[in-house]
Amino acid sequence: MSEKLNQLKQILGEISDLNHAASVLGWDEQVNMPPGGSEARGQQLATLGKIVQEKFTSNEVGMLLEDLKKEYSDPQTDDGAMIRVASRDYEKAKLVPPSFVAEQAIVASKAFEAWVEAKSKSDFSIFKPHLEKVVELVKKYISFFPSADHPYDILLDDFEPGMKTAEVREIFGNLRPKQVELIKAIASAKQVKADFLHKKYNEKKMWDFSEKIISKFGYDFSRGRQDKAPHPFETSFSVNDVRITNRFEEASPIATIFSAMHESGHAMYEQGINPAYERTPLANGTSLAVHESQSRMWENLVGRSLPFCEHFFPELKKAFPSQLDGVTAKSFYKGINKVEPSLIRVNADEATYNLHIMLRLEIEIGLVDGSIVVKDLPEIWNAKMKDYLGIVPPNDAKGVLQDVHWSGGMIGYFSTYALGNIVSAQLWEAINKDIHDLEEQIRKGEFDQLLGWLREKIHVHGHKYDPQDLVQKATGSRIDSAAYVRYLTKKYSGIYGL
Ligand code: MG
Repeated sequence: MSEKLNQLKQILGEISDLNHAASVLGWDEQVNMPPGGSEARGQQLATLGKIVQEKFTSNEVGMLLEDLKKEYSDPQTDDGAMIRVASRDYEKAKLVPPSFVAEQAIVASKAFEAWVEAKSKSDFSIFKPHLEKVVELVKKYISFFPSADHPYDILLDDFEPGMKTAEVREIFGNLRPKQVELIKAIASAKQVKADFLHKKYNEKKMWDFSEKIISKFGYDFSRGRQDKAPHPFETSFSVNDVRITNRFEEASPIATIFSAMHESGHAMYEQGINPAYERTPLANGTSLAVHESQSRMWENLVGRSLPFCEHFFPELKKAFPSQLDGVTAKSFYKGINKVEPSLIRVNADEATYNLHIMLRLEIEIGLVDGSIVVKDLPEIWNAKMKDYLGIVPPNDAKGVLQDVHWSGGMIGYFSTYALGNIVSAQLWEAINKDIHDLEEQIRKGEFDQLLGWLREKIHVHGHKYDPQDLVQKATGSRIDSAAYVRYLTKKYSGIYGL
């Protein structure tokens, strides 16, 4: 290995250490930290962010990358891919002043605390000034970059490298009428019963059950853990320390199980990355959409399938005999897949979920292009909910305040959720071609071959390939909603007899 490559790896390794230390602080902020720690934590994260930014955008890194790009120009090799990814990140980071990165971290930390309070009191006015600041900084961030086809492209690119606003709008534009048509057909069909979902369940028992399921999937608890937080998420400090959070809500107690499946899907991706990539820019999932394809696959294509219900329902019923009295695996399956326009994105069924995303995308684009201002958000949110889903939130906690993302400055993120759904169905078709008795395996609670396929085709590569290239390699085509429409139509035709 060349001396210069060694030098670069040394610096990128230290940057990775600093970033992971910041992630530990971020995890602690949401899981353990008392409210009083907010300001200090914001400063600590800002300092770390500033050091990372200065270190990464140094002339030394710039010169090393410049020289190494010529020497390691084959992106099919690990070193070539690492240099390609690092160069792209470098060129972007170089455009953003370190003082801005620090300011953004402080604003985000305060905005997160304000969001928690605003949500618990269902009072948007508490969050409003913080969100205004966040949006102002996002616009400033965009101004550092050369102009794009659409200013929102610059935000999207941070979460989904290469993806354009116009592409996403086109994919959503094709999908929306098909989803709306499906929802209408379901609404006029005989409805399924799901009253067992709203009974009282014991929190500890539900939590333990969720951990049992994800261990069986293959989430490795010797390299992970599940903690309580206001919003479920996954965070990685190393290939060997990938954590998830979860919550228990009396109003939707069984959601705890599905959140665990979801977050463990993200976590298994990170646990499966080639260990040789540790401490390099390749040691992450390649994009949020591909990440979400993993979480949605375990949550929905596995977790909400009939074969899986047949496998795990008897045990769930043993744990909750009175709540599930008279319920069978089949009626449980139908109940957990009940389609009903609802208020909360994370609890939405698969038929309506993407509409929640389309609503957020339009709002974000409006915030960026100035056609929407923060103070009007609760009203605009409610109007769009009525338009997209036919229902209006009774309060802001169940409306505009429900998601954590904007408090962290993450604007440009949401559409990756819907793209993840789309990719999950594409992968699922490819997997079923390779593993002929997959359903039977799931019915028996066997997941080794499924996880093995994902490890080989997706996880192990980390950030080596861009999302579109990775999806193409694994499925034979680029991101395309046809498989997702086929999946939804088949599933709900069975449940609702369409
Ligand atoms: Mg997710």
